Amino acid sequence: MLEGYIQEIFSSFQGEGAAVEGSCYGLRQIFLRFAGCPIALGIHGTNGCIWCDSPLAWSAKPKKCLVEIQAGKQSFEEKNNPVTSKEVLDIVKKLETKDLHSISLTGGEPLYQPKFLEDVIERLKENKYQIFLETAYTDKLELLKKIANKIDFACVDIKDRSANASIQWEMLVKEEIQMCEILKEAGTKIFAKSVITSSSKKENFEIIAKLCGEINIPLVVQLVTPKMDTKISQPSWRQIQEFTEIAAKYLPSDKIGISVQMHKFINIL
Ligand code: SF4
Repeated sequence: MLEGYIQEIFSSFQGEGAAVEGSCYGLRQIFLRFAGCPIALGIHGTNGCIWCDSPLAWSAKPKKCLVEIQAGKQSFEEKNNPVTSKEVLDIVKKLETKDLHSISLTGGEPLYQPKFLEDVIERLKENKYQIFLETAYTDKLELLKKIANKIDFACVDIKDRSANASIQWEMLVKEEIQMCEILKEAGTKIFAKSVITSSSKKENFEIIAKLCGEINIPLVVQLVTPKMDTKISQPSWRQIQEFTEIAAKYLPSDKIGISVQMHKFINIL
């Protein structure tokens, strides 16, 4: 039986996305937050995205996994890591609610633990759960090809240059677009999301929008959640419109949207 490292498992609502195909925005999910983030660990020569809101998930092998005791209670018990895929399935069953839409595989980076991820997906599909994948890990294209037909919904995080996720930004974006293509070809309902700050540049966003347009996948402008201890701030209203209007040069209007991190505003998990 395969085992791996999970940071947290809890029930909540998907807080990111927009009214575009592939998004599960506002739908009830159980979140499996996989441990370890290769971008934060330096695979692209940087120390992770400057606006990252989940530094706890960077650790590849945390000793403990936090598990919500009962769906919606927001209180947790600790479980020793690593956990088996069977244990993960049992927790998912325990946290299942009548309004559950899908299981969100997020992180950190779910693709960072390939064999464990495959096993978890296998068990979830055997039990008829729908799967939503959130990823930005471009080094695992072969794995993605293998699992893509089991992923119902997906969000590929296309890093804006200002995120500082890679020293070779244009190459990273092209690889992220390849991930979108793989998922789309497998029949996954997929959208791309790009986190935008007040210092994001229109010319960089245009590169992303053009590539999304070439494969005709929705593009969501995700407004960064400002961090109190940094200078990172949200784009202005005018900037937001400029970005969505740039996207409209390459995509129809029903494939463009904006998103804020809803769970931060209403103070839920
Ligand atoms: S890829 Fe995600 S978890 Fe990793 S540093 Fe960027 S935002 Fe944080």
